[in-house]
Amino acid sequence: MAERLGVTAASLSDTLKTMEAHGWIERSPDPRDARAQLLHLSPKGRAQAALKRQSDRGALGLVQALEQADLAALLRCTQLLVGEAQRQGLATGLRTCVGCRFFRPFASGDAARPHLCGFTGQPFGDLELRVDCAEHERAEPQDFAANRERFRQRIPLPAE
Ligand code: SF4
Repeated sequence: MAERLGVTAASLSDTLKTMEAHGWIERSPDPRDARAQLLHLSPKGRAQAALKRQSDRGALGLVQALEQADLAALLRCTQLLVGEAQRQGLATGLRTCVGCRFFRPFASGDAARPHLCGFTGQPFGDLELRVDCAEHERAEPQDFAANRERFRQRIPLPAE
């Protein structure tokens, strides 16, 4: 779980303890492994999760109030921030376009949808940048660095 979320095991453990203190999760013994514990959402935790999924509540409600151009800018900045955090070794396990081996920034020749996804073969714009893509595959370090550099150019470099 910690690797998938890009946090340390200690940080995840602290978060789980906090959630437990709120009564949002419950632990039970794992019948397959005496050293392990199973975690479940409690009824209170399920109610809290349902509340957070409501589109007009929480962060999602705030984001939905943005104009599309502002949302695209936010997604672009998020990719740049995550990319920089990954470069500095502060984050791992995040499935963003910029860290993906299929990402081809500014490669489509279409100003409205300038990037290409090598997995789908489709052009896409900043508004469709993904931060947790199921098809993501981690780019090799040199490709990641080149993509990050190309993506951060406001005026894209000519394609190589
Ligand atoms: S596979 Fe997903 S993460 Fe990778 S470039 Fe395509 S949309 Fe982005």
